[in-house]
Amino acid sequence: MTLPTIYEISEPGRRGVLLPDCDVPESDLPADLLRHELELPEVSELQVIRHFTNLSQKNYSIDTGFYPLGSCTMKYNPRINEDMARLPGFAQLHPLTDVDGSQGALALMYQLQQWLGEISGFDGVSLVPAAGAQGEFAGILMIRNYHLDRGDTKRTKILVPNSAHGTNPATVTMAGYEVVELPSDDHGDVDLEALKAACDDTVAGMMITVPSTLGLFESHILDVIEAVHDCGGLMYMDGANMNALMGVVKPGELGFDVMHYNLHKTFSTPHGGGGPGSGAVGVNDKLKPFLPGPIAVILEEATDDEEAPLYGLQMPEKSIGRLKAFHGNFGMHSRAYTYIRIHGDSGIKDITRYAVLNANYIRAGLKDTYHIPYPRICAHEFVLEGHFDGVDDVHALDISKRLMDYNIHPPTNYFPLIVHEALLIEPTETETKATLDFFIDTMKKIAQEAKDDPELLKSAPHITPVSRLDEVRAAKQLVLCCAPVMQSLADD
Ligand SMILES: *Cc1c(COP(=O)(O)O)cnc(C)c1O
Repeated sequence: MTLPTIYEISEPGRRGVLLPDCDVPESDLPADLLRHELELPEVSELQVIRHFTNLSQKNYSIDTGFYPLGSCTMKYNPRINEDMARLPGFAQLHPLTDVDGSQGALALMYQLQQWLGEISGFDGVSLVPAAGAQGEFAGILMIRNYHLDRGDTKRTKILVPNSAHGTNPATVTMAGYEVVELPSDDHGDVDLEALKAACDDTVAGMMITVPSTLGLFESHILDVIEAVHDCGGLMYMDGANMNALMGVVKPGELGFDVMHYNLHKTFSTPHGGGGPGSGAVGVNDKLKPFLPGPIAVILEEATDDEEAPLYGLQMPEKSIGRLKAFHGNFGMHSRAYTYIRIHGDSGIKDITRYAVLNANYIRAGLKDTYHIPYPRICAHEFVLEGHFDGVDDVHALDISKRLMDYNIHPPTNYFPLIVHEALLIEPTETETKATLDFFIDTMKKIAQEAKDDPELLKSAPHITPVSRLDEVRAAKQLVLCCAPVMQSLADD
């Protein structure tokens, strides 16, 4: 499976380009700038095309196969989003263009803020944060400044359930607060007694992932919100996974004070590999003055129906400030705008209904083969345990690696941490029933293989250029050049 490197197919004298005859006097290149140790491969144009096309096909992507990576919402990114984002008036607009020259883009941002507010029941939205985690950070800073603004300086803690996304406690710590971890009860909900015991006037707020990373909708959400509000804290909802809620329930109406959205999950802007994201934040009236800016606003209302209002940008009165250059990742805004506009009201609701249906379909299909620690209706994802009674040596990771042999991306492994051998599965709403069935059948087949021939799983994947990498080292020490180097990384 290993591809030869471009150097291995190089042959002296072969060339890919023919330069036109030189029509200026020839002279030597400056010797001190030439690095003779850098050999250039000698290959034809076709060899270059094949080499890089083959390499690109070693990348797994949502465009090449099923990607049930829990909590990441790897769903189809409609191509129309790309067309709209590439309209020259958007794509080539300089961020310093004045208000008169950027009315279209400002109108788009304004409308997107309105729609996101409407979808989640919030009064104000800022599109500035560049990722979910940055939206969280903005949210916690707003909570902090809200308390400080009222002269309330004794609040030093934020409550975080142990079923929260990993970024939640990290955000709390970065914002200078102490994390108070709350246990979950046997059903996977927040332990209400523990919550009430932790609530006092040193609590600035609570940060809760909804649905939780167990894929569950908190059964006592209103009690949780009330308990925190009763002690003067504010409620942060991690809404990265709004494809489980939108069109059905509005977090602002439940009583949440602030939430972030992941436009690069729910609203289908592409993500993965550290590309640009957008973690817009929505807030109620209490926090609106603190939003990060700039925000798109209407500077002058239209005088008659034929005209458009005049849009502009503003920093909110008590803004926590800027988090990013210019106005956030505008390319993500245009994609999310397109997506919402195309779906409309009923389409937005269908996204949620299908996301939840698909997850429950797989859960039901696998419940007799795998142990499901919280056997209740799930939201857009669910967690199962990746091990089998009587087969001690097979772990969640082995199941994941074996899935790759069937051209399926592994689910999220060993997360959430509170489930033994966790595999977190999120099919998303964009998959066909045939794909869901293929996944269920494959998972069953792997369960059988685990019993009959565990070595098959232990040595998987068998179809990739390298098999099992030290993933932490591979991420920190990227080696992007040659297969032999990658292989030696895998070997030791
Ligand atoms: C993805 C995710 C985040 C983090 O979003 P990033 O854009 O990766 O920073 C936070 N919370 C939840 C629940 C998520 O699924």
